[in-house]
Amino acid sequence: MKNVIFIVMVISLFLAAYNPVYKDITIEKDSLVDVGSADSSFVLEISKAGVDNYWHRRFYDCPKCMLQHQVAIDLIAANQEFHKLGYSIKLWDCYRPLDVQRVLYRICSNPRYIMPPHIGSDHNRAAAVDITLVDSKGQELDMGTDYEDFSHKTSRGYKNFPDTILSNRELLKTIMEKHNFKSYSREWWHFRHIKARSYELLNIPIKCD
Ligand SMILES: [Zn+2]
Repeated sequence: MKNVIFIVMVISLFLAAYNPVYKDITIEKDSLVDVGSADSSFVLEISKAGVDNYWHRRFYDCPKCMLQHQVAIDLIAANQEFHKLGYSIKLWDCYRPLDVQRVLYRICSNPRYIMPPHIGSDHNRAAAVDITLVDSKGQELDMGTDYEDFSHKTSRGYKNFPDTILSNRELLKTIMEKHNFKSYSREWWHFRHIKARSYELLNIPIKCD
């Protein structure tokens, strides 16, 4: 009997250790999560909800970062780990409705940058994010290029940068990968969740109400 009690205690401690930080965050499991509401320590700059983006055009009705439940949980965990180093995640793009993908593909029909709508992007699955890091003053860390700079310098293979930039990119990648995201070789800012392909393409508009 003592052995059984001991095993139950060990299992309880194990579960507690692996479920430590989200107790105060209420998230509906069956709907997309509004990440900025779930964790206000993210910096939101959803550029496609305004005109300050590569295309100088507004694509989203509301500047929200919506993600699948597990994707949000893992992103929040990554953000909390960045906090320990004095940084926060700045979010540029998260879920992207399929209709917006169609518009983007009409403007830029190069699959290197915009996936064709019939294949879809992991952003359409609410399972990918475009991000960078900011310091405690809100200053972006130098990653070598701007977001949506469509030059070869955004590639992870491009190494002709000072060490600071390379280590900033590496830090972003290392902690995101630790929290179940995969990096993308052509864009240092893009990360998809390891389960991204298990979600369907979605076409729910992003509403503010
Ligand atoms: Zn992306």
